[in-house]
This record gives sequence, C-alpha cells and structure tokens, in this order.
Amino acid sequence: MSELVIRDLQVSVKLPEGELKPILHGVDLTVRAGETHAIMGPNGSGKSTLAYSIAGHPKYEITGGSVTLDGQDVLAMTVDERARAGLFLAMQYPVEVPGVSVANFLRTAKTAVDGEAPKLRTWGGELKGAMERLGMDPAFAQRNVNEGFSGGEKKRHEIVQLELLKPKIAVLDETDSGLDVDALRVVSEGVNRVRDTGDTGVLLITHYTRILRYVKPDHVHVFVDGRIVEEGGPELAERLEEQGYDRYKVGAGPAA
Ligand code: ADP
Ligand code: MG
Ligand code: MG
Repeated sequence: MSELVIRDLQVSVKLPEGELKPILHGVDLTVRAGETHAIMGPNGSGKSTLAYSIAGHPKYEITGGSVTLDGQDVLAMTVDERARAGLFLAMQYPVEVPGVSVANFLRTAKTAVDGEAPKLRTWGGELKGAMERLGMDPAFAQRNVNEGFSGGEKKRHEIVQLELLKPKIAVLDETDSGLDVDALRVVSEGVNRVRDTGDTGVLLITHYTRILRYVKPDHVHVFVDGRIVEEGGPELAERLEEQGYDRYKVGAGPAA
C-alpha cells in the first residue's frame, strides 16, 4: 500500500532579491492510499507552500526534513519523476498550455506517467467516460488547456486528469475555490470515486469547510503559521465550520 511520508518539513520561499523567507516550520504528515486528509487553515498559513514543495516548484527551497513516497526520496526527484512515481498535484492557479488540446494533453500526461502510450482501442472510451461522469461536453476535449476555462472547467479538467492518471497520492490545492454548488458536487463525486478505488490517497487542501460536506476526510489537520496546530477526525472540520480559525492565535503577516 502506498504512503506519502512528510517528516519535519521546513521550507522557505525564495524572494526576488535572493533572500529566503521561512514559511513551513516543521510539518509531519503521513497519507496512505485509500485515505482522505484535509489540510485546513487561514489564508497565508502556508498550505499552498506545502503543495508546491511536494510538487517541486523551483521558487521554494527545502531547508530541512524529508518527503518520501513508498520510501523513495521525493525531494531528490525532478518534477517529471514525481509524476511518474505516482504523485498528482492540482495547483491553486493552473497554468495555460497554449496550442495543446485537452485530448492531447491528457494522452501525453498518461504516456509520461505510465511510461507507455495508452492503448488506442480503450483510451478513447476511457477519456469519454471520465468526461461524461464530470458532466463535460465532448467538444471540451478539443479546447486548449486552461485557455479561457471558467473556474468550474479548470477544476473538472483536474479531476478528469485525476481519474485517468490513477495516481498513488493526489494533492488538491483549493479544488473547491470558485465553484458553484453543482460544480462542487460533481467535482467532489469525482474525488470520492478516485478515493473509493482504495488505490489513491487524497490530500485535500482548503480554506473553506464547504467541500468537506461532500468529501468526507478521515483526518483533518489545522495549519497555522506554517505548522500543524491541531489534528482530528471529521468532527474537527465541523467545529471549524462553526468556529472558524479565530481561536488559533494567528501571528502571521498579511494574508495571502
Ligand atoms: P496559503 O496557501 O495557506 O494561503 P501560502 O503558502 O500561499 O499560504 O503562503 C504562505 C506565506 O508565504 C504567506 O505569508 C505568503 O505571503 C508567503 N509567500 C508565499 N509565496 C510567496 C512568494 N512567492 N513571495 C513572497 N511571499 C510568499
Ligand atoms: Mg492563499
Ligand atoms: Mg493557498
């Protein structure tokens, strides 16, 4: 069974002048296949920094600790190697890929992750099925990736990738932001389908409790000032929904 193990992770962001600004001050977290973990916290608490660090974004410097996937050192891997190892990272601000259609992008991603091209005979059906389940028009496959996508289309596209790539661990950063209730439900059902296969562990990063009504986390971790300050089960998400983050002392700088 796959597991992502984060130990005492310390991360700084590289500022334009070359200075390092410490953001994560020692994060410990283990996510196993079939589990859903929610990381919740106020704006600017470092949630996206955690996601970018796992993804290997060059703007973030790891100053201490470790991240391993089934014992392999994730931090030593290139971004491509991380994807091939079974990590899937959906970012808060997905980039446009000019001139590349959704269909080509998904096929290329699948080929890169699996190390071989998907079988033509079955691939078309898989793609069509995944798009249908997310309520997407088939014509969407011919559009360029993220070009002019609405918030809902971007998120659906993320979940289509998730369903087709079948990663060991999926990190979803603010997958719920900007979604209306219908899109939220469809996207959540997609996350649940993937989780329910038992083959994928989900790390759901969110500021709001709304998505947790549809995707029930097994574990909830509260993030404040680059640290986990409280952990619990689904009941913790309910408490946060009622009480917000005010009871945690927020000593951070300006909200991001
Ligand atoms: P969250 O996702 O919880 O809102 P972030 O990880 O985006 O938090 O940000 C954590 C802190 O790091 C914030 O104080 C933010 O201003 C700072 N930060 C993140 N990225 C950068 C950056 N590229 N340059 C300067 N500060 C940054
Ligand atoms: Mg933010
Ligand atoms: Mg964020």
